Amino acid sequence: MGECIFCKIVNGEIPAAKVYEDELIVAFLDIGPINYGHVLVIPKEHHQSVSTVPENVAGRMLKVASRIGIVLKRREEYDAYNLHLADGTAAGQVVMHAHMHVVPRGVEDNFRWNWRQLNYADGQAAAMAAEIAGKIAAALEEK
Ligand code: AMP
Ligand code: ZN
Repeated sequence: MGECIFCKIVNGEIPAAKVYEDELIVAFLDIGPINYGHVLVIPKEHHQSVSTVPENVAGRMLKVASRIGIVLKRREEYDAYNLHLADGTAAGQVVMHAHMHVVPRGVEDNFRWNWRQLNYADGQAAAMAAEIAGKIAAALEEK
């Protein structure tokens, strides 16, 4: 993955403000933070999608991301944190190396997720839940 910018950070080829590293993952400051202290947690191994990241690595990403969230939350200016992961271009993924955002949040940080809420028609939610539920077991077997 010669051109991947996050692989270059893992390999030390370009600098990053690292906050955590172990044998599986690296965490560093996002270069364009939503709030100061915004961190990215990435697997050392290159995966475009989080869906192919091995379970132990994905588990470590979540554990470390949530603990970084706690550390950030303890700062005076923050009260909470969001974990965010964009998987695919339509979802907003720009860097094609899976990464989890840890975004520290303050009550008065003046940032709003642009989150909408549609309504289901009668029966639509049940049909959709049944369709998805019927496909998950097979998807769990995929590499
Ligand atoms: P996403 O839209 O989820 O793919 O987010 C990619 C994130 O990577 C953005 O928030 C960028 O600010 C961040 N980013 C891109 N290049 C670097 C870099 N060299 N060091 C740190 N963060 C970066
Ligand atoms: Zn990569």
